[in-house]
Amino acid sequence: MVKLPFIICAVVFSARSPLLGQSSQAAVGQAVANRAPLQANAFNALPLGTVEPKGWLRRQLEIQAAGLTGHLGDFWNDVGANSGWLGGTGESWERGPYYLDGLLPLAYELQDATLIRKAKQWVDWTLTHQRSDGQIGPARNDDWWPRMVMLKVLTQYQEVSGDPRVIPLMQKYFAYELRELPGRPLRDWGKYRWQDNVYSVLWLYNRTGDQHLLRLARLLHQQGYDWEAQFADFKYTSKETSEKLGLKDHGPIPEPAMQTHGVNNAMALKVAPVWWLVSRDAGDRNALAHQLATLDKYHGLPNGMFSGDEHFAGTDPSQGIELCAVVETMFSLEQAFSILGDPGLADRLEKVAYNALPGTLSNDMWSHQYDQQPNQIACTRAHRQWSTNGPDSNLFGLEPNFGCCTANLHQGWPKLVSSLWMATADGGLITAAYAPSQVHSKLNRVQVTIDEDTEYPFRGTAQFVVHTHSPVLFPLVLRIPGWAASATVAVNGTPSEIRKSGLYPLKRTWKEGDRVTLKFPMSSRVTHWFHDSAVFERGPLVFSLPLDGQWAALKKYTEKSADWQITSTADWNYAVQLGDCSAKVLERPVGSVPFDVKNAPVSLSIKARRDRQWSTVENSAGPVPSSPVTSPDPLQTLTLIPYGAAKLRITAFPYLREKSQCGSASAELEPVFGSLAIR
Ligand SMILES: [Zn+2]
Repeated sequence: MVKLPFIICAVVFSARSPLLGQSSQAAVGQAVANRAPLQANAFNALPLGTVEPKGWLRRQLEIQAAGLTGHLGDFWNDVGANSGWLGGTGESWERGPYYLDGLLPLAYELQDATLIRKAKQWVDWTLTHQRSDGQIGPARNDDWWPRMVMLKVLTQYQEVSGDPRVIPLMQKYFAYELRELPGRPLRDWGKYRWQDNVYSVLWLYNRTGDQHLLRLARLLHQQGYDWEAQFADFKYTSKETSEKLGLKDHGPIPEPAMQTHGVNNAMALKVAPVWWLVSRDAGDRNALAHQLATLDKYHGLPNGMFSGDEHFAGTDPSQGIELCAVVETMFSLEQAFSILGDPGLADRLEKVAYNALPGTLSNDMWSHQYDQQPNQIACTRAHRQWSTNGPDSNLFGLEPNFGCCTANLHQGWPKLVSSLWMATADGGLITAAYAPSQVHSKLNRVQVTIDEDTEYPFRGTAQFVVHTHSPVLFPLVLRIPGWAASATVAVNGTPSEIRKSGLYPLKRTWKEGDRVTLKFPMSSRVTHWFHDSAVFERGPLVFSLPLDGQWAALKKYTEKSADWQITSTADWNYAVQLGDCSAKVLERPVGSVPFDVKNAPVSLSIKARRDRQWSTVENSAGPVPSSPVTSPDPLQTLTLIPYGAAKLRITAFPYLREKSQCGSASAELEPVFGSLAIR
């Protein structure tokens, strides 16, 4: 029997519903709290469709819809009409579900009728082709793993559409899985990604209360790889190689290769929080912080990620990270923040979303990389120092190196939109991550819309306007990022100061037109990385020296789709000057392409000298010289722009022994341009 879930926040779509599907005229989404005996989430995810992208973020999603996401199936057979997930004889493993996991939320967030129709074709095939024993998906392939992805798609689809077929299908499938797993246990990818299966099992449990689902969750945990044990006694502290991992061209993938795999580790960032919901063990709750700290210590990169090209590769910023790992890290952090409520996890989410994600996608989102490098001086077909990847890995293209990212990249931006806002346990809303958006929610039985007007992360101000037909009491919780030593908030013009980073609740009776203005101090800072290299950051943005790049097509697939190499003759080997002096910040309007090398919304001017000891190694920037360094070359001014806009770039620099001297020129410019206090 299906019991009513504990509803903490109902969402009603209004007149804009015709595209939403068959159930859109009524309430179509509700944030659902965890059902006992599960631990309560800190915050509950709002259903797909509740948050609409606005401003620059909407333009980014429109670019995505006009790019690969909107057109991939027209010419890339793996997600084309012959996909096994559409009943055809083609690709029947992970690529169809991967694609849909991003196409579906993008379609609904943009209310794009064509894309919704396209996404629903796939969903409908799965919903209408369940086997009598409960199995779903293409008959040609019985791997548990791709079904874990399709289940995530179905949960999103049910939330936005209310389609009554989804929950019975999932009930029947999980009953089948519970029966089958003892005789056909998790293996290879599924064994290492079991937590994503548990995620959907718990989603269903919260809606049905069926105790068998908790048995299934425990069985998946029991059969799955013990990620917490891996990090409790971490052995993989240096760069991997094919030889060390025992990789061969054929045969099963050795276990150490699965354990050091970048994408597996990205997905595993949700293991501890998801399992804590079931285990209620404080050790599980606390394990993620140690896991992230361990990855940072041995493999951390300045773009918010860790190295994985294809396997752990150390902290050298010329090592790469795969696009699949970027979008999976984002999804893991979105879940982890929702469950644990640690604001540092949302800081990290923003860092990955606003740097590593745009940094590895072309402006038009018709091409992407497999591996990106923080220090990336050429994207060419060449041998590089990857742990195990091939020579195409940093090209911008259709499927450089391997096609998984081609199928999986689509979830990045849309799932960020879904996670910008979450529901609080006491009936309010929290700003989990900042971006221009609008959220619709029923709070304390009153329909409320909040407009978030901001150009964050390029600017440090966000304005929220509440729309409600009648005054309503609820908490609006603001997340103050860890880098913001103090922030100010003003309600209807009355300011107060927030001194600490963390969560700042504003509980009051809100009425139509109430306005909250939040200002973060966007002072810039220098952080230190591999060989004590210096990285410039401002708010959630990482800054890079862009290298003027020439794009040349290596292979054309369609008029828009091609494999590209990017080369540059620009000097890149600079050592930067640090000190307590000011440098300049220049802000420009956010353009039609938010992360564009030619039109960066914000830039930093810094001083540097060439460091001629720093040279190319294996077609990449060689290891950053250990700082401090000296150079006889003249001091020059460099302009740094957001990492995401600079497709060829230097991000981590050696620094000069000399410190900067304050000059009156830069001080005079401060009132106009702001200042860069370099610590
Ligand atoms: Zn991939």
